[in-house]
Amino acid sequence: MNFKRRPKASDIFGQRKFEFDKDFPKIATAIVEVKEYESFGEPPITERTYTEKSMEEYIDCSEPCCYKGGISIGEILREMVKNNQTKLKTTKICKGYLGSLKGKKRYGTCYHSFKIQILIKYK
Ligand SMILES: [Zn+2]
Repeated sequence: MNFKRRPKASDIFGQRKFEFDKDFPKIATAIVEVKEYESFGEPPITERTYTEKSMEEYIDCSEPCCYKGGISIGEILREMVKNNQTKLKTTKICKGYLGSLKGKKRYGTCYHSFKIQILIKYK
């Protein structure tokens, strides 16, 4: 298998930094902490923190051979706003798969998981 980096969720669906005034007019501040795990029971391989100033639609998977990998933070935020939720702890499994460079062949499932903690303050 070729270990060159596959395109990630953000490459395929288009990365976009949020404009909070437009995208989430009800949110005053938001903090998102994301820990990415290669396998359960091991320390996280990446830890990232985003605020309403730095947040983007997708967080990409770090596995080079993972095609379309990552999770959508936007999806989670929109759901939280709909329910007026201020706190959320959740775990999401990577939406990609181990694939060929253009994603045509599937070699297996990507088991990367993302522990996500979100705090929102509404206006
Ligand atoms: Zn992945």
